[in-house]
Amino acid sequence: MTPEKNGGTAVLPGSYDPVTFGHLDIISRAANAFDNVIVGVVNQPVRKQQTVFSAEERVAFIEAEVAEYGNVQVKPFDTLLVDFAREHGAKAIVKGLRAISDFEYEFEMNQLNRKLAADIESVYLMASPEYSFLSSSGIKELATFGAGIEDLVPPYVAKALHDRLSRQGR
Ligand code: ADP
Repeated sequence: MTPEKNGGTAVLPGSYDPVTFGHLDIISRAANAFDNVIVGVVNQPVRKQQTVFSAEERVAFIEAEVAEYGNVQVKPFDTLLVDFAREHGAKAIVKGLRAISDFEYEFEMNQLNRKLAADIESVYLMASPEYSFLSSSGIKELATFGAGIEDLVPPYVAKALHDRLSRQGR
C-alpha cells in the first residue's frame, strides 16, 4: 500500500549554485513526504557572493533531475521567503541540516520567519551521512583546482562547472 501524503505543499529554498547530490537527496525525501514540492532558487542570495551560474541555469540543472518525480516544480524567486511560500500556498518550508554550522544560521532564520509568518512551519531534514560534508561552495573549490567531482554532482553539472571555472581563467 502506498502511504498517504497529506502534508500539502512545501517549499525548499536555496541558492543551489550548483545543485549537488546532497540537495537532490533532500528534494527526493521531501517529494516522498509532501504532496507538492516547490524548489525555490534564490535569484540573488544575500549571504553569498555573486553566483557562478545564473538563476535560469541553476533552475535548469535541478529541473533535469526532478522531472521523474511528477510532484516537484522548480522556480526562481527574489522576494521574502515567506511571501514566496504564501504565493504557492505552502504550509511548510523544508531545509536540509548538515552540521552545527548550519544549525546556528537556520535557528536564527527560523525565529525571523516564524515572526513574519507563524502559520508556515519550518521542517528540517537531517543530511544523509554520505552527503553531510557536501556543499556547493566545497564543490566549486574542488572544481577550481581540477579535482574530480563526478560522484558529488550530476554529470552535466560537473562538466558545466569545469567549463565555467576554467573559462574564468582559473
Ligand atoms: P549550500 O550551502 O550548499 O550552498 P544552499 O544554500 O543551496 O546550499 O542550500 C539549500 C538547502 O539545502 C539548505 O537547506 C541547505 O542546508 C541544504 N543542503 C545543502 N547541501 C546539503 C547536503 N549535502 N545535505 C543536506 N542538505 C543540504
